[in-house]
Amino acid sequence: MYVPIDQALTAALASIGANATAPLNLERGRNSFELVATDSVAWHLKVTFELPLTVLPSIFLAAPAEGEGLAHVSYTGCICYSDHEGEGFDPTNVENVVAFAVARAVAVLEDSLRKKHAGDFQALLDEFEGYWHSIPDCYMVPLATAPVAENQLYAQVQQIHSKRARILALDQGIGIDAKTPRRKVHFLPIASAVMPPANGELLQNGWLQNLIDQAGPVAQHISKQHGSHIFLFAQARTEGESLFGVMFTTVRSGSHAKLTRVHPFGVQRAWRDYLLARTGVSQVKQCVAIIGCGALGSRVAEQLATSGIDELILIDFDYFSYDNIYRHILGRNSVGQRKVYALKHELEIKHPGLLVHTFTGTAEQWLCDPARRQVCQTIVLTTGQLALEREITQQAFAECWSQRLVSGWLEPLGLGGHVIASKAGVSGCLECLFTDVGCSRPDMRVAFLIPGQQVSRNLTGCGGRFVPYSALHATETALHVCKMVLAGTTGYRCWAGDPAAAIAEGLSVTRWHERCRNLPPNEPIAHRDCPCCSS
Ligand SMILES: [Zn+2]
Repeated sequence: MYVPIDQALTAALASIGANATAPLNLERGRNSFELVATDSVAWHLKVTFELPLTVLPSIFLAAPAEGEGLAHVSYTGCICYSDHEGEGFDPTNVENVVAFAVARAVAVLEDSLRKKHAGDFQALLDEFEGYWHSIPDCYMVPLATAPVAENQLYAQVQQIHSKRARILALDQGIGIDAKTPRRKVHFLPIASAVMPPANGELLQNGWLQNLIDQAGPVAQHISKQHGSHIFLFAQARTEGESLFGVMFTTVRSGSHAKLTRVHPFGVQRAWRDYLLARTGVSQVKQCVAIIGCGALGSRVAEQLATSGIDELILIDFDYFSYDNIYRHILGRNSVGQRKVYALKHELEIKHPGLLVHTFTGTAEQWLCDPARRQVCQTIVLTTGQLALEREITQQAFAECWSQRLVSGWLEPLGLGGHVIASKAGVSGCLECLFTDVGCSRPDMRVAFLIPGQQVSRNLTGCGGRFVPYSALHATETALHVCKMVLAGTTGYRCWAGDPAAAIAEGLSVTRWHERCRNLPPNEPIAHRDCPCCSS
């Protein structure tokens, strides 16, 4: 039997003890209705949702001021009844989804009311920031550094008109464009936490004056001075602290000071430790040098930067050209620039707090001064020239370098990629892979292609020879290199891809490739006759 949605919804609401205050008339698009749901008290609620129903309904207290002192109720009366994670409700089951949402919202309100009656405001104080951001006039400002009392903060301010200014960013004054007006920000930790303003209360000065009084004599003194002020407050929550700001103007007449043009702002934490903590990793105090910043090296640099490595040294003498575009992380806007300069710019812009150094010379030039590598713990070799990397490995073992070497390279046509990490004094190195295959041939034990086959292509003449592999293959290999760098271990890893493209070109793959397709290698690679690492 067909049941009109309005009727079905009325029935679903009745089943949870709720009644719409007016006849329901739902339609495609935005819907809104009010209801009374009775539990320990009668909750007068407003429900809004869109049809088709792809996100859960929003539920508000019909009179937001009734939310005073209730946790999980915003300044506008919106009830936070779901964390919106992993929701997979049936969008066609509108009546039951709405009734479910109302029941959940009422349960949240009842719980908050019990806590309020018991004088327990911890949950409310813990979500102070969320409440603050729900004030309609509140806007968000990025804060580039964790605020501490010792460091003066500045605001980059844009004057919108004679009576209204807007803060664009907060920092210690270094990142602010010299042409934009810069204003002092007073950072004011509050010893004893204040309750958020009840609906509509902020612009009445009582709440702000009380906040300033709580913040102490410095705040009181500044707030009495004629002119515009920017205050950033911090107060403790169960974990960490709540940060919230106010820009206001003090107008003095005689001995009386009046606070006016009160505008709240919230902060977006934009400093490195905080941003990394959100990814579940912490800053890795490690300096990594990357020799060779091509398709593979540039991706290694990018992945290490996002993984929390705090310092990179990029070594490459080459300029970025059009030929690199679809294999490199840099794009057309970098053509003609030194790869290392363009990468430094790209990585530092994207990752606040990351330090990138550059060297525009060859590997040999960088390595000839040992002081350059002393500052780093790991040297990544992504030169695409295994002979050069063998040479560097031999030198590292002969001179007992304290740095770990991590070499990564790609096989053509998506066959796979390899990474080997080694350290002087530990057996197993790049040279081991070449031992016993015959000195006359530059082949290695772990090669995926049977030696002696022509794979490099040439679209424009001998100078334009290249080994075909895609950005995807470079990325997959880069991930293996980065995992090896971050794990801090030594050893050999590889990934073996689909051989179809290589076979279609008439190429033959090795047994080792077949083996690695089925089972990732995990055996030691040290060769007892290795001239480099065996003692
Ligand atoms: Zn070896």
